[in-house]
Amino acid sequence: MAYYIFVTGGVLSSLGKGVASASIASLLEEQGLKVNIQKLDPYLNVDPGTMSPYQHGEVYVTEDGAETDLDLGHYERFIDRNMSRRNNVTAGMVYYNVIKREREGGYLGATVQVIPHITDEIKRLIREMEDGCDVVIVEVGGTVGDIEGLPFLEAVRQLSMELGRNRVLFIHTTYVPFVKTAGELKTKPTQHSVKELRAIGIQPDIILCRSEVEIPEGIKEKIALFTNVKKSAVISAPDVEFIYEVPLKLKKQGIDRLIAQNFGIEYKDVRSKWEDIVHVLRSTEREVRIALVGKYVSLKDSYKSVAEALIHGGIANEVRVRIEWVSSESYEDNTLESVDGILVPGGFGERGIEGKLRALTYGRENRKPTFGICLGMQLMCVEFARNVLELKKANSTEFDPNTPHPVIDIMEEQKGIKELGGTMRLGSYPCRLVGGTKVGDIYRQELIHERHRHRYEFNNVYRDSFEKAGVVFSGLSPDGKLVEVIELKDHPWYIGCQFHPEFKSKPFRPHPLFKSFISACLQGQ
Ligand code: GLN
Repeated sequence: MAYYIFVTGGVLSSLGKGVASASIASLLEEQGLKVNIQKLDPYLNVDPGTMSPYQHGEVYVTEDGAETDLDLGHYERFIDRNMSRRNNVTAGMVYYNVIKREREGGYLGATVQVIPHITDEIKRLIREMEDGCDVVIVEVGGTVGDIEGLPFLEAVRQLSMELGRNRVLFIHTTYVPFVKTAGELKTKPTQHSVKELRAIGIQPDIILCRSEVEIPEGIKEKIALFTNVKKSAVISAPDVEFIYEVPLKLKKQGIDRLIAQNFGIEYKDVRSKWEDIVHVLRSTEREVRIALVGKYVSLKDSYKSVAEALIHGGIANEVRVRIEWVSSESYEDNTLESVDGILVPGGFGERGIEGKLRALTYGRENRKPTFGICLGMQLMCVEFARNVLELKKANSTEFDPNTPHPVIDIMEEQKGIKELGGTMRLGSYPCRLVGGTKVGDIYRQELIHERHRHRYEFNNVYRDSFEKAGVVFSGLSPDGKLVEVIELKDHPWYIGCQFHPEFKSKPFRPHPLFKSFISACLQGQ
């Protein structure tokens, strides 16, 4: 049976509970423990797949094709385990399962209620995590005090009783604001949110204090007193420049030792691998500037994995990556002159398309390293058709269903399917790379597997004319029918991929495409 750590949040949302949970998971992994980690989201969508990135940030896609919360991206970047559909549970999913079971007559005449039926289903989904694991970390989304989060908190409270308090640890993340006019850090919001948590029957064992600055000893003492935890269990989590510093900040205050002691596990004094990552990030002075041309740039979380993968590419090349967030709806062309590379990420819908096409023309004509991901690759094809093949009205049928030149189109077998989710290519698919191409050299592998999230594909009717004009189809599905990667023959680095390589990049294992892209940007300086 595994040990369980439940991470709750108080005071505010967006405190970086996901990064904190992932950091703790990685420190425990460094202790030689097998760790799994799960996110509970209190909203009623069954999954975030249908939510706008403006609402919820990026949708993170797992190997098994689940559309999940972006925190799962943090988990995968911090620990050595692939997440799956089961690692993200939403209230919508819980209610859906219970209501389905009720309709099937599964409750044998009982009145179906939040307690025990919803809470039982939550506990069942949590317990699915522990197979082959020493520790399961469960991050409870939302903020203590929210109505929606109550069934989740009640379920984890019950679970702590069932498992026995010696197998369970509660970590509460709070916010300790620095009030400038008073020149002081204030503990009152923390006191109140712990009070709220205790009213539900949960006494935290560790308080993780997010703050702009380090929490001094005196304030830790005060928080310990008011929240009934040991002072050594009040951990300071100040703002950091790079999220990969978080595990080190926590380790320095002994959080891993504290957890091991709590569970009665032997503590090993190991050097953290994060030391090396942070060292590289801190010590390099060289910088590359990348224009990320997207529709959702006002909410940077919409491109979380792309931004992190660029940083990983920087780590691999020992340079800092500065991202210039360029809105595809309104930008001046000279923005692109000053950057070292251009990246057009994935997206849905027509808004901002013309701006992205303009950026791609700029990158192609000026021989700037240019990276197109998913929609970005599709637009590389539209741009090429319009401006090189002179098919002026070329388009994707996503944006113009009646275009005379549908270079990007829905596959024949998917036409007519009404349910939007039903037509998406989701999750990991194999791709065969063509030897002697740029991408073949970058991966040094013939068969690769990458994650997808899209509906449209390159239209094979146009393959010949593209090839004759200088496009290389350097990656295809194993049956040769689907275009996975394109590149330009006469360009230093102009590569588009139908999949999302950003989802598989980790700080310790930078994705080859991002590593190569940053290297090309450096060479062009
Ligand atoms: N909208 C495009 C499609 O559905 C691209 C999707 C994406 O970039 N993830 O195919």
